[in-house]
Amino acid sequence: MTRHKAVSVTCDDGRAYEFDLLLSAADELPRTSLAKGLAVRLGANGAIAIGPTGLTSADNVYAAGEVAGVPCQIDIAIGQAAVAAAAVHDTL
Ligand SMILES: Cc1cc2nc3c(=O)[nH]c(=O)nc-3n(C[C@H](O)[C@H](O)[C@H](O)COP(=O)(O)OP(=O)(O)OC[C@H]3O[C@@H](n4cnc5c(N)ncnc54)[C@H](O)[C@@H]3O)c2cc1C
Repeated sequence: MTRHKAVSVTCDDGRAYEFDLLLSAADELPRTSLAKGLAVRLGANGAIAIGPTGLTSADNVYAAGEVAGVPCQIDIAIGQAAVAAAAVHDTL
């Protein structure tokens, strides 16, 4: 029988733990420093507040993807970006 190796984790305080399996659960914090410089309105979670087309509170400024706070996957970010791009096109 093959015994799986345990995962060892040593914390900053020196305590060590062993696990059979380790899964990461990365939190998502939108990086909105660029948006803050543009003075767009942020939502309660710190993400850029957008309308249905991705338009922010600033004229002609659109946002899509994780910066706009949607629990995101690549396809969702791309879809939002496509909607925003179409909206920009409609303004031309
Ligand atoms: C570990 C991990 C695994 C994942 N696995 C999957 C998966 O299997 N499938 C899936 O669909 N999704 C996965 N995701 C989620 C996916 O990566 C994101 O949903 C997707 O990348 C969001 O795209 P985005 O364009 O909104 O943001 P990002 O891909 O993060 O792009 C934002 C870009 O803007 C740049 N940027 C930020 N601030 C500034 C600034 N001030 N000036 C200039 N540039 C700036 C950043 O450097 C970055 O390049 C995973 C995410 C993580 C963290």
